[in-house]
Amino acid sequence: MRGIRAKKRLGQHFLSDRNMAEQIAGTLTLEGYKSVLEIGPGTGALTRYLVKRGIEDLRAIEFDRESVEWLKREMPSLNLIEGDFLKYDIGGEFDHPFAITGNFPYNISSQILFRVLDLRRMIPEVTGMFQKEVAERIASPPGSRKYGILSVLLQTFYDIEYLFSVPPEMFTPPPAVVSAVIRLKRNSVVDPGCDFTLMRKVVKATFNQRRKMIRNSLGSMCNTEDDSTGLMTKRPEHLSVADFVLLTNWVARNRG
Ligand code: SAH
Repeated sequence: MRGIRAKKRLGQHFLSDRNMAEQIAGTLTLEGYKSVLEIGPGTGALTRYLVKRGIEDLRAIEFDRESVEWLKREMPSLNLIEGDFLKYDIGGEFDHPFAITGNFPYNISSQILFRVLDLRRMIPEVTGMFQKEVAERIASPPGSRKYGILSVLLQTFYDIEYLFSVPPEMFTPPPAVVSAVIRLKRNSVVDPGCDFTLMRKVVKATFNQRRKMIRNSLGSMCNTEDDSTGLMTKRPEHLSVADFVLLTNWVARNRG
């Protein structure tokens, strides 16, 4: 768009529908923070409308050289960080809470969300576009085949709302998949009630063998003979966040 050819390896699909761009920029509630970081502004489709909302401290991080040059020329007052969101010291960039938004590069969406989890103390809200399937997964409640690792870990600390879907025609070039916009709002949980590093391992170990009963997938981590939790014969997709906290504490006691 406007002289920049989209690069596949950077997950570039530029939003070309202005009403949609405005609608997405409107998904930030602006409650409880004054700073916003946009990931991957590209040629500023969304950025323009974020500027229009009068956000006090708006910054954007872009990896693509060509887009960076374009933004510096066309939007010179934008506070632009030239870098890779996955490697940049974002925690050091802000000393106060900030929200994240964007039409995210789909090839790194899970990695973006794992970074959000690491920085959760600083990030009260995330809104933006993902591939629809990923958005559905993140927002999915237990009991569904879509419920997985990121659903459990993110839902521990965020209330997640699926907002709306976005058809491929609204982008240049159109992606092969339907997209969707979601909102993650930090809940009040600071301490989930278990060792969260261990919980990550438990969640990963069980979902990596999602068709197996918990007893079988955790067999290598601990002694699974005792079943005081009542969870050993269940499958991970039927466990709520609270169940995973219980299970993690149980693993901590039975390791050895
Ligand atoms: N927001 C724009 C572009 C979306 S495409 C629009 O809606 O039109 C995704 C953007 O993320 C691209 O501009 C791509 O260059 C950028 N990007 C990809 N990987 C990135 C990374 N690791 N860090 C920062 N930006 C990245």
